[in-house]
Amino acid sequence: MGDGSRYVIRGARVLSQDPEVGDLDRGDVLVEGSTISAVAPDLGEVDALEIDGTDRIALPGLVDTHRHSWQSLIRHISTDWTLPQYFSGVRGVFGRLYEPEDMYAANLLAMLDALDSGVTTIVDWSHNNNTPEHADAAIQAVLDSGIRAVWGYGNSNDEWLPISDVPQSRDVVRIAGQWFSSGTGRVRLALAPRGPQFATKEVTLADFGLAAELDIPVTVHVGDGAWGKGLPVRWMHEHGLASERTTYVHCNALADEEFDIIRDTGGAVSISPELEMHMGHGRLSALRALDRGIPTSLSIDTCASVAGDMFSAMRAVLAGSRYLVNVQALDDDRAVDPLPITSVDVVRCATQGGATGAWMGDAVGSLTPGKRADIILVRTDTWGMQPLNYPAGAVVESGHPMLVDTVLVDGRVVKRDGRLVDHEFGRVRKLAEDARDRLMAKAGIEHPGRWLPPVYENK
Ligand SMILES: [Zn+2]
Repeated sequence: MGDGSRYVIRGARVLSQDPEVGDLDRGDVLVEGSTISAVAPDLGEVDALEIDGTDRIALPGLVDTHRHSWQSLIRHISTDWTLPQYFSGVRGVFGRLYEPEDMYAANLLAMLDALDSGVTTIVDWSHNNNTPEHADAAIQAVLDSGIRAVWGYGNSNDEWLPISDVPQSRDVVRIAGQWFSSGTGRVRLALAPRGPQFATKEVTLADFGLAAELDIPVTVHVGDGAWGKGLPVRWMHEHGLASERTTYVHCNALADEEFDIIRDTGGAVSISPELEMHMGHGRLSALRALDRGIPTSLSIDTCASVAGDMFSAMRAVLAGSRYLVNVQALDDDRAVDPLPITSVDVVRCATQGGATGAWMGDAVGSLTPGKRADIILVRTDTWGMQPLNYPAGAVVESGHPMLVDTVLVDGRVVKRDGRLVDHEFGRVRKLAEDARDRLMAKAGIEHPGRWLPPVYENK
């Protein structure tokens, strides 16, 4: 709970995401222990360690509500693959080759990549838990990283072959007791079941029953690609599975009535804009969710294909959502005015929207006195940021991980002066490269960048 220190961030541009605090052209943020205790234009003299906020934009830590962190070892390998190639390569080849130590290396790298880029909360959509030891190693890495996380327990590699009739492993009951007995720590537990698109209806009912038994929230893929057209959310609602503790990932092909169900049952949406556009998931669902007032969050999905920073996701959802509207208007000989989504909207999606989608909306997501101190400072004293006219536009359009100067998680400084404090890059890089080399050797792949997976067979 914090590092016991008091910090005051002095003189930053503040995008608080709290309607009462608002945006401040110059603001101070006081952190006491793990908590934000005050945000104001000038806090005057306080007894606290100073963090200079000059030429910095202060934001709540960014939130990624869906990342398959275990895939960081095969980073960029599927950047030019189709969705069937992704399933064939990742599921058919790599997933089963992971040992627990590979899960550890992958998750540690993924979490530190996230922290370095200003992601302070992540939903680790962990769906390669081939043995209990795989799960334990993945959780250990999340804890060791220092990030705030929801660890989403998903199925083993083999159980992801659609349409699976194998129920979720009850190892999650052991995991809940062994790792998450408090339920309120920095790393929490959710269930990440395959859902109605990838498992039989009977198995889906059983999987959601497991979440209810453990009293944990659920994150589930729905509405992606051709699979998503079968009204999965309507089916879930008919069977009592749609609730305020469900976050729906992708949602591209859902029907209007399904978005209404999500709104009426209090659920949240997670959009992985860049990945969805690359891999043919369908139209981005941000506008349909935002128009209904559904808590809308952003996610990376997989660093096997796309970058792990939320600036990329913010840019992608802003451009992609406008593209849909602008192209339609052009086809209809209409003008678009005003634009249907703004950079202010997408910063909110990446902060408070994400916190709500990760079931922590009351604890993080805004710079609000009383909330946990998850804060980032983004540099603006750079060629691409000056002159600084519109901070939200600057964050979305010109933000990138190298500009993230300072990161606090739960009141602890985990990145300062552009460097992670607790982790040595060379050591983690070697862990990850060694694990990658083992994987490639086992797969018989000499040049990962030139390798294409075999044609996917749904065995
Ligand atoms: Zn996913």
